[in-house]
Amino acid sequence: MSPTTSAGEVSGSHYLRGQIARELSTAIGAANVSTDPADLQAQAADWSWMSKYMLYKNLEQPSADFVARPGSTVDVERVVQIASDYRIPIVTRGGGSGTQGGTFAPYGGISLDLSRLNHVIEIDDESLIVTTQAGVDGPALEEKLNHKGLTLAHYPGSYHLGATIGGFIAARGSGVVSTKYGKAEDQVLQLEVVVAPGKTVTTLPVPSHAAGSDLLQSFVGSEGTLGVITQASLRIDPLPETRGFLSFSFPDIFAGIEAGRLIMTNRLRPAVIRLYDEADSKKLQDWVGTPFTGTLMIIMCDGSSELVNYEMKAITALAEKAGGASLGPDVGQTWWDGKYEPYAKGKLPQPPLMYGTFDQVARFVDLPRIYRAKKKIIEEQFAEYGARYTAHLSHWYDWGAMLYDRFYVDEPPTDPAEAMVLHDRLWDAGILTGLENGGVLNDHHGVGIKLGRFMRTQHGAGFELMRQLKDAWDPDGIMNPGKLGFGPPRNSKW
Ligand SMILES: Cc1cc2nc3c(=O)[nH]c(=O)nc-3n(C[C@H](O)[C@H](O)[C@H](O)COP(=O)(O)OP(=O)(O)OC[C@H]3O[C@@H](n4cnc5c(N)ncnc54)[C@H](O)[C@@H]3O)c2cc1C
Repeated sequence: MSPTTSAGEVSGSHYLRGQIARELSTAIGAANVSTDPADLQAQAADWSWMSKYMLYKNLEQPSADFVARPGSTVDVERVVQIASDYRIPIVTRGGGSGTQGGTFAPYGGISLDLSRLNHVIEIDDESLIVTTQAGVDGPALEEKLNHKGLTLAHYPGSYHLGATIGGFIAARGSGVVSTKYGKAEDQVLQLEVVVAPGKTVTTLPVPSHAAGSDLLQSFVGSEGTLGVITQASLRIDPLPETRGFLSFSFPDIFAGIEAGRLIMTNRLRPAVIRLYDEADSKKLQDWVGTPFTGTLMIIMCDGSSELVNYEMKAITALAEKAGGASLGPDVGQTWWDGKYEPYAKGKLPQPPLMYGTFDQVARFVDLPRIYRAKKKIIEEQFAEYGARYTAHLSHWYDWGAMLYDRFYVDEPPTDPAEAMVLHDRLWDAGILTGLENGGVLNDHHGVGIKLGRFMRTQHGAGFELMRQLKDAWDPDGIMNPGKLGFGPPRNSKW
């Protein structure tokens, strides 16, 4: 019997769905293809507030029509070829720990689940480079490296939430020790990427060269909109011989920012500098039991004992110069030991609470102004909703730092449409205030669907160049459409 629509008519698109499912099954094996509605919903979900809220309200996640689980790069090529033939979207999914709605499939198509690309290919302990498939998650890779006395030194807050190496590179991620060990763009050395209509591109074996412009970095941060990262080589490091902790209180966040600036511009390289404003230090106390509230700075230095001793002494002098008072090592050690606890103990914010994390990045000279302006606009413009603002700075650069600031609304409107409007208004206010004061849209969570509407404002004429690159590499717009502000797929026959 022919498939029928609910109106009883033969449905062309229903037939086409069956055709595509059969072709996917032939290409990668029927066991690796699913059209089960629960599977489709689970593949679309991520850790964004929008996704968690839809789950809480029993609303549908914007999902794909098929899930494909390739087991090799060749499988990925086949799936991308089929998507190109039918001009239907490909939405790559790593661990689904993203916070920007990047795994949503608002235009349907294929959710490409990379969980079977889970092999560590080679650990080169001479050059200190690991080569791994993109679907490997952080703890699995770290365990293999630790056995050899090595580490990737990428410990994101989502370490135990399934975040994959592909997702880390695709979203330009960073971990808690990135101040010393770098972000995704610093750690990745080579990529294998499948692009439309199903070709594999491998970038050069080393990232530093003068062999033309940089293909590697074009894919870093592209969030699946240019291609599917299937394999990566990354820099690794020896596990540190020792770790030393310091902590300081400051009269206010601005004195703390000055201390951080002095540390970084004196070119010291602690692995961790975390500076919490008063509101965020209270939350930290609730989450991990740090015995101090107020403006708090935690420092961790790692490496040889000589290096750690030298850095801790130099950092103490600079922190005191900026008005810091030492709180000893225990606060820092408590944070380090408990840093994943909020996740393990389910203390993470969740609906009905409304929340959002801005993680913007800026030069030192702009940071105090951004902090003041954002705190003011969230607390004053949304006073009728009792909006709260918290902030810490936790990834520091030679020239500035990342401001991980959040809004919370304890009792948002119960009507989903009204709640979504308020959520968008809070984001508009926070992001645009950050941009107006010299901040950059995002430091390490990426753009996804949530921040796409700010990309033109952020990049100006540069956004049109980015779009032209996207159009040239993905002419049908099938690679993760609706993300990074690139809009819907083109020429879709769906
Ligand atoms: C509690 C919490 C804490 C977090 N802490 C951090 C943190 O400290 N640092 C940090 O950087 N991030 C953090 N994140 C955000 C998130 O975990 C990271 O962005 C992570 O790197 C995403 O990896 P994933 O495999 O889960 O990607 P997914 O969520 O599956 O995907 C994210 C985006 O990348 C694309 N993508 C995924 N894999 C590939 C691939 N192989 N090729 C092409 N595109 C791909 C997806 O299409 C999507 O657009 C946190 C999230 C949560 C919920």
